[in-house]
Amino acid sequence: MNQNIYERSQIWFVTGAQLLYGDDAVAQVDAHSRQIVDKLSAGGLPMEMVYRGTIHSREEVTAFFREAEASETCVGVVTWMHTFSPAKMWIHGLKAFHKPLLHLHTQFHREIPWSDIDMDYMNLNQSAHGDREFGHIVSRLRRNRKIVVGYWQDDTTRKSLADWMRVCAAWGDQQKLTIVRFGDNMNDVAVTDGDKVEAESVLGYHVDYVPVGDLAEVQQSVTQAEINDLVAQYTSEYTLAPNALPDGMDRKRVIEAAREELAIRKILEVKNAKAFTTNFDALHGLDQLPGLASQRLMAEGYGFGAEGDWKTAALVRLFKVMGRGLPGGSSFLEDYVLHFAGDGAILQSHMLEVCPTIADAKPRLEVHPLGIGGKAAPARLVFTAHSGKGVAATVVDMGNRFRMIVNCVEVRKPEADLPKLPVARAFWKPEPNLEIGAGAWILCGGTHHTAFSFDLTVEQLADYAEIADMEMVVIDEKTEIFRLKETLRTNEVYYWMKK
Ligand code: MN
Repeated sequence: MNQNIYERSQIWFVTGAQLLYGDDAVAQVDAHSRQIVDKLSAGGLPMEMVYRGTIHSREEVTAFFREAEASETCVGVVTWMHTFSPAKMWIHGLKAFHKPLLHLHTQFHREIPWSDIDMDYMNLNQSAHGDREFGHIVSRLRRNRKIVVGYWQDDTTRKSLADWMRVCAAWGDQQKLTIVRFGDNMNDVAVTDGDKVEAESVLGYHVDYVPVGDLAEVQQSVTQAEINDLVAQYTSEYTLAPNALPDGMDRKRVIEAAREELAIRKILEVKNAKAFTTNFDALHGLDQLPGLASQRLMAEGYGFGAEGDWKTAALVRLFKVMGRGLPGGSSFLEDYVLHFAGDGAILQSHMLEVCPTIADAKPRLEVHPLGIGGKAAPARLVFTAHSGKGVAATVVDMGNRFRMIVNCVEVRKPEADLPKLPVARAFWKPEPNLEIGAGAWILCGGTHHTAFSFDLTVEQLADYAEIADMEMVVIDEKTEIFRLKETLRTNEVYYWMKK
């Protein structure tokens, strides 16, 4: 990963109260809140959670949220009501705040102390009361937020917060993300196109264009020493096919692949871009389709989309940030070939560009001709994805809104070796099965390109869609086509009314 967003970001925790029950009560609320944040942090959170105090007036609430909104480090806020907190005081603050919001519905004490409970105890420990008052005003303001209900010392509660914090990190990243397109979208293709202005307004990221000629020119500034160093890295990280070895007949292609990778890196660094697209049909001045570069940059955390697919590049970057440090891996993928035998499954691959973080073994660096694009034979990493459950997602432009489509899938070992297939691949069964899963995806208008992850959950993607206030359709083991059609029809009206 080329960015330490988790190291430089924070989640701010704030507690609501009022002064009705005296200074002693406020001091206790403050001490308890600190204890909760300390305990959650000690259990392991993906980024720092900072307790920002107890607030009990409109002025304090408004000042707090204005500061959170303006802060470079704060990527989300957690609220909790220990006692009662009259919610009119939250209105102005909430309206000034547009970052992710999580409402934690917990209580300092786990159990009711049956023999000791009195009115003092009840007045101090009334989260059931205070959190409802707070929740009302958030709903009244039609403000999207996540609600987590659970005891603060339980691992399940901490896990819910930790998962959401990853979404906040990725959302924060997308608000500053630049995506570079080397060349335009592939001609005539509908699903990879879309409204880049609307995407920046709704989803946050900025899509830029770099002529392929500029990339060709930057290649000239790459030195032989840089190429030698990079090829040495290839040799240590991958198993090289015979024709890619120093005396192999396609060694030149490996060297040119390294030159392209170095040139792409230079441009991405200058533009401070963390995602990019290529197009096999726009390669003037290049030796080959830069497949190896795309694979390696993805593995480092860059977003990638082929054929100019900037929406998927953004989504792959989102997955990379959300899943940073997790073991399963994530990738750009494309639905390629159906398998109507057995349980029914789909072979996922691409011309070249599959991320090696999902590989089941050390990838092989191979060079093979590519039938389209009219360029030299490109270098690429060849491997099979490991097995496991995961999520595949896409974002499509429906004209009046973006729609995210998520399918739960099970990656399996292919039923046999694929000795003649010169590209990386994954083999998955969509939930609930091929017939409904693929049928539902097509009905929703889903792309052939997806962002895929072994590490993320449907809930995290739903949190992301809610933060973006974007339509989301989930295809999982419960999906039935006729109910899905109802949902899509209802959504059509909802989003038409909302505009
Ligand atoms: Mn493609």
